[in-house]
Amino acid sequence: MEKRFIYADNAATTRVSDKVLEAMLPYFTKAYGNASSIYRLGRDAQRDVELARQKVAAAIGAEPTEIYFTSCGSESDNWAIKGIAEQQALKGKRHIITSVFEHHAVLHTCQYLEKKGFEVTYVPVNDKGFVDPADIQRAIRRDTALVTIMYANNEIGTIQPIGEIAAVCREMGVIFHTDAVQAVGHVEIDVKKQGIDLLSLSGHKIHAQKGIGALYVRRGITLPNFIHGGAQERNKRAGTENVPAIVGLGVAIEEAVKDIRGRSERITEKRNRLIDGILKIPYTRLNGDRDKRLPGNLNISVEGVEGESLLLMLDMNGICASSGSACTSGSLDPSHVLLSIGLKHEVAHGSLRLSIEEDITDDDVDYILEVIPKVVERLREMSPVWEKMMKGEEIV
Ligand SMILES: *Cc1c(COP(=O)(O)O)cnc(C)c1O
Repeated sequence: MEKRFIYADNAATTRVSDKVLEAMLPYFTKAYGNASSIYRLGRDAQRDVELARQKVAAAIGAEPTEIYFTSCGSESDNWAIKGIAEQQALKGKRHIITSVFEHHAVLHTCQYLEKKGFEVTYVPVNDKGFVDPADIQRAIRRDTALVTIMYANNEIGTIQPIGEIAAVCREMGVIFHTDAVQAVGHVEIDVKKQGIDLLSLSGHKIHAQKGIGALYVRRGITLPNFIHGGAQERNKRAGTENVPAIVGLGVAIEEAVKDIRGRSERITEKRNRLIDGILKIPYTRLNGDRDKRLPGNLNISVEGVEGESLLLMLDMNGICASSGSACTSGSLDPSHVLLSIGLKHEVAHGSLRLSIEEDITDDDVDYILEVIPKVVERLREMSPVWEKMMKGEEIV
């Protein structure tokens, strides 16, 4: 078996596409003007920033004046949540609703606000990984300032009923934000039709560079400044514009939404082949729903193995993947997402996430399906947990 290199961790980050890189390059050494400068070089930069803003807006059905560029998806989440919290607190509203399985950019922001005297309701998700809009409805109170629910989960890929949740919020007069970092460019989004008030997105998950993001803020909502200083981003977010990154994001998002359906179908087919192949290994389970998930995401628990060991063995075979524990961040706790759908700690630990894109070939899929069962078999041979399981002993 010939060793390959397969990048199957696109939910962590993506490669900058050739088209994006090419579009960005002139802005480093030729069109390097400050977009606030009055001379031609500056005006050109300003024009290209605005063109990129139009592209981002068009991709999600927004108006250009509703798009603010930020430094990343995390910043967009922070700005949306802290901004609305601060603004609504002036009206005595100090309650926020989110879900238990949000990205840390949302969860840790909510925890910070709890320390500042806000109250946060964390709605549960069911065993398939979905938020129930009825739970949101029940959680809304007279003093609810904001509901923030992610569009698609970054670990298990489940796509939430965003239109329904937004409708509940709209009906009850509560502002609705969604972290759509994993969804943008993978599922069709129309903020107007879906009734979304604020939406976060990030460049590096859609083949732009790391360190660029955007926040959509519906007209009529006035968010407080997040970074104070110059007059950039219509006085809302100071700091000299990162022109190359902004231009790159514009190109990336335009490419991502082009032929989104066709691409989704093609990726889904390969993903399903991977799911079916991996599930042939005994004692495995698919996390999240089979159909209502991001086209390129699959997350499978493999009992009797450690996620970290699995990743290392896959790496030795040239496959980049991700797992359900966060050892890399210095903690051995299993993922809060996998626990939220009811997985036991030891099962969550042995989870594998692959996030693929269209560039993956049929041969790549075959290779992955050849490598994984072998690696799992070897790890299970060495695993005391597996040995106990096979003897029918209880695992503690
Ligand atoms: C990656 C990610 C983020 C953070 O985006 P950055 O640009 O890396 O800050 C936030 N939310 C979700 C769901 C993500 O997947």
